[in-house]
Amino acid sequence: MDNTSNRISPLFIGHGSPMNAIASNSYTHFLASYAQSIPSPKAVVVISAHWQSRGTFITGSDAPEQIYDFYGFPDDLYRVRYAPPGTKTIAQQVASFVSGISVDSDRGIDHAAWAVLMHMYSKATIPVLELSLDIHKSPQEHFLLGQRLQALCNDGILFIGSGNMVHNLRDISFEDDEPPFPWAVAADAWLKEKLELDAIQELIDYERSFPNYKRSIPTNEHYLPLLYILGMRDTIKKLKTLYEAIQNGSISMRSIAG
Ligand code: ZN
Repeated sequence: MDNTSNRISPLFIGHGSPMNAIASNSYTHFLASYAQSIPSPKAVVVISAHWQSRGTFITGSDAPEQIYDFYGFPDDLYRVRYAPPGTKTIAQQVASFVSGISVDSDRGIDHAAWAVLMHMYSKATIPVLELSLDIHKSPQEHFLLGQRLQALCNDGILFIGSGNMVHNLRDISFEDDEPPFPWAVAADAWLKEKLELDAIQELIDYERSFPNYKRSIPTNEHYLPLLYILGMRDTIKKLKTLYEAIQNGSISMRSIAG
């Protein structure tokens, strides 16, 4: 696992509304074209904003169920089928490589994974796993767990932190073309600057450093997957912005490669 030439850059992907699953827009086109531009991974591990748990788990089913973990959306969205295989072998490999991760053989994959991956790998042939967010861990501990997983990026595994850096469901527009709200633009600009400056500790300590963070991150489950990718990043290179936009007035879709 020390052959860095095989490294696949870990990604943070903003997933936004579940409606992106059935949309065709600049964001979904970005996902498809980016996946074409990188080596094909042997598996994808998604650190999911939508799986919070006591302790850290990784899915270990060879045929994970597709979970429709959202309510009140059009019927079309519940008819989307994306059924990639899982892989118990890689789940066990990850769990044995990093202590403190347990395999959950029953849990399926939620839309933080499938609504993104159906655009990246539409044939659904690449195995997909999910990693949960331990609700007892601090932001620093999530970052450190990302660091411990970093070597697996050299082993053909694509890690994707799937969330949103700015995500407030109480302050949102349901119009797809709503102009961005000024507070969300300011928050996204702060994040962009800190990512460009490689100001990793400020991003980890967002509760101290991020002005007005409670409006952007009222709950942190959509932000925490970013900290894993910062932990896994290639420290020799700069973080790379892959996509930036604000959807629904307030959701930052900013996506990066580490
Ligand atoms: Zn979400």
